[in-house]
Formats: sequence, structure tokens, C-alpha cells
Amino acid sequence: MLDSNRIMSKGFDVEIDTLANGGQAEDSTGVLSERSDLSVGLSSGGGAKSFYIETFGCQMNVHDTEKVAGFLLARGYRAAASATDADLMLYNTCSIREKAAQKVFSRLGEWRGERRKVIGVLGCLAQQEGEEIFERAPWVSLVCGSASYRKLPELVAELESGGRRVMGLDLNVDETFETEITRRDNPIRAYITIIEGCDYACSYCVVPHTRGPERSRASDAVLSEARRLAYAGYTEIQLLGQTVNSYRDPSPRKLSFVELLREVASVIGIRRVRFTTSHPNDFHREIVDAIDSTLALCDHIHLPVQSGSDRILREMRRTYTRDEYLDKISWIRGARRAISITSDIIVGFPGESERDFEDTLTLLDEVGYDGIFSFSYSPRPNTTATSMPDAIPEAEKSRRLAILQERQRQIQLTRNEKLVGETFEVLVDNHNAARAQWAGRTSSNRMINFTSPRENLLGEYIQVKVTRAAPHSLVGEHVALQ
Ligand code: SF4
Repeated sequence: MLDSNRIMSKGFDVEIDTLANGGQAEDSTGVLSERSDLSVGLSSGGGAKSFYIETFGCQMNVHDTEKVAGFLLARGYRAAASATDADLMLYNTCSIREKAAQKVFSRLGEWRGERRKVIGVLGCLAQQEGEEIFERAPWVSLVCGSASYRKLPELVAELESGGRRVMGLDLNVDETFETEITRRDNPIRAYITIIEGCDYACSYCVVPHTRGPERSRASDAVLSEARRLAYAGYTEIQLLGQTVNSYRDPSPRKLSFVELLREVASVIGIRRVRFTTSHPNDFHREIVDAIDSTLALCDHIHLPVQSGSDRILREMRRTYTRDEYLDKISWIRGARRAISITSDIIVGFPGESERDFEDTLTLLDEVGYDGIFSFSYSPRPNTTATSMPDAIPEAEKSRRLAILQERQRQIQLTRNEKLVGETFEVLVDNHNAARAQWAGRTSSNRMINFTSPRENLLGEYIQVKVTRAAPHSLVGEHVALQ
């Protein structure tokens, strides 16, 4: 599970028609739409239409939003400056945790009684809740699951011709979401999805139910996107997939994940390639060898473990044991380059004993992670863990989470303190004028705040010497190349 992000779009004018159509129809594409004399619609002519997308969830969602925005721009829409200004308000949702789902419904509640705006719900919550969203928020006109984005042209066309309650919830898909145009919101790092969906069946996870089965993009499509990005000036690319390293090239070239990594890294102009999220089961030594021998492959691996207890890993259906996971960690630690390792951890899974929790704490010590995303277990609909006995009380989950985070904080501080005095290449991605400080990331994905006598550093690669360490970041100063 990845960190949360929100994306906003920028705006323009639009015209909305009030249409009066009745009935409900399913067309040949399986797009279900309902027409109603209560509906408002997006006029397909007579002026530009504006959209605004709010995104919840992981980087996959952030990038899906970029692609949806690209599709709408190509269709003649413009980005609105705010939700209030938009004619088409879309929520790209996450349902990985109960809180994220509640937040979306609370956002939808803010539009109760809205008659001049078309409101849509995209993504994982849309897939999970389906028609129920129309029941809970009858002012919503579009529900489209993550696996149905390729149907967006038809769905949006339905809305434009007055469709009301338009749905795309197909899970039996073998295609990926391809767009001619992707609007890039991050000027420094560009995302490329290489694989969608997931064929694993972790007992706590909704993703297989919301994003559908695993399907990879053809290597040529990925590589031409990487070349286009390099041509547009991007130097850092992040390859995305729920299980990115399960990639299987469907084209006749049949590139392996590692071969694809090497080819993306060799695109002229690309200086950094990252990939996330890797599944330990598909994590092979060749990935470490590729990082060791290819400078453009960043020295960072995100390898979610979820628990340090074999018993809980079994219950979670993670398909590996603690020892098997640690073997993979030893390959990474044995590399010639110092590769940073981060992970995801869940505490309070049903039946997690003190002993199981202790196993997770000792795993933190044994691996020495450079960062973790840690969560309390949250029961999700359609997952087998929801009906497991011995739920852990919320207060106990919080207690364990606090202990885990404190232990990890100490580990990170110790690891970061060892870096004081070292110099790293940093890609500058932020500037805090008030503090006269710049910020950027090392290849190992460590954030470093630093001072520089120079101006206009955004997007540049510079050398920064670490002068101070904190648990979650480093502090340094710009130094001239020796
Ligand atoms: S590997 Fe497991 S946790 Fe990751 S997306 Fe698939 S089912 Fe969910």
C-alpha cells in the first residue's frame, strides 16, 4: 500500500444542458445507463466543458487520474480551477481502507441537491460499491471501476447525450487502459503503468476485486511512452503496477521484467528508473543484478512484507515465509551498490498474538528498513479476512501501531545518522522560499532538504553533502562537483 495523494486540475468554462429522457438501457459494450428527467448532462456542443478530479489513494490512482485527465482534454474538456467551477466533478477513489471509503462518501455528501454539475465516482470504491453509490448519493451520474477505464469514451459520450446513472463495472478484462494523451501533474517524475490488476489473493486485500486480473502492457508501448517522456524532458520514470515485478510482456518480444527495466533505463535522456510495488514472490536475484550493473536503475526496492510472523503470513495468503523473504533481503544487502529497502506492514490482523507482533518487531531489526508504510488492519468487503475470528480491538491495534512506528523511527534515525558526511546526487523537486531551502531525492529515494547559493534548481541533478540526519529525512548543503 502506498502513500496517499491528491491531485487537482485547472479550469475553464462549460455549458450544461438539462435533459429529459426516461428509461434505462444497456448497450452492446455493456455500459449501463439510465435516463431521467431529473438528470443534468454535459452538452457535447456549444462551449467548452470543464472537469475537476480529486484523487484518493496510491500512485496507481494518481497516474490513472493523469490518464483520465488526458482523455478528457483530448475530448475537448478543460481543467477547472476548483471543484466549484467544474461541470464534471470526478472522484478517483480508493477502498483499500475503510477511512478512505468514508471520506469519499463524505465528499459526495457535499454535493447533495446539486443540479448543475455532473458528478462521477471512478476507481476502486466505484468498483466495490457499484450501483449502491447511486442509492446512497442519487445525485451521482457516473460510476466507473478501475478495470473499466477503457470504456470511458462510451461512458462520457452517454453522459454528454443526457445519460444518467451511467456505469462501467466490468472486471473480466484482458485489456489495459491506453490513452493517446496523459496529462502529467508531476513535472519531475513521470509514471508509466506497466501492469494492471492482481492475480494474488491476499486475504485482506480488495485489489483483485476492484482492479481485476493481472494484465501487462506490451513492452513496445511502454518503451515508446518512455521515449516520449524523455523527449518531453523527463529524466526520471517510475514504472507502476500493483505487483510490478509480475510483469509478463504479452507481445512477441516477451521481455522479462528485468529486460524491460534494462531497456527503459537505456532510453536516451532517462537518468533514473524506479518501480513499485514488488511482490516478494516474484522478486528474483536478477533484479538485484540489474540494479548493480545499471546506474540508471535506482538503488531502492520497496518490498512489502506485511508481517514478520509465518502464521500470520499464512493467514494473509502472502505465499512466502519469513525466511524466504529474508533470503531476498540478503540478496539486496549483498549487492555492490547500497540499496535502500522499504516495506508495508499491517498490524492487528485477525488473530495476531503478542508473539506474532513481536515477530514483526524483530523483523524490523533484522532487515533494517529505510522506511515503512504501516497500517492497522482494516476489514474490507469481499475479503476472506473480514470473516476471520479473533478480531483485534481497535485500541490494541493502535497500541501496536505506535510501538511499531517508534521502533522503526529509531532504526531510520540510526541508519540516516550513518550517512552524515556523505555526498549524494539529488534530483531537486521542491523549493521552500520561506525557509530558503531546496528539497530533492537521492537515487535511494531519501528526501534531503538543503541550502544552495544557486537559484532555479528545480529538475536539476546536483551534489548534496549530508550535514544532519532525522528519522524521515536528511539535511545537507549543495556542494560543487569535485
Ligand atoms: S499482492 Fe496481495 S496485497 Fe498486493 S494487490 Fe495483490 S492481493 Fe492486494
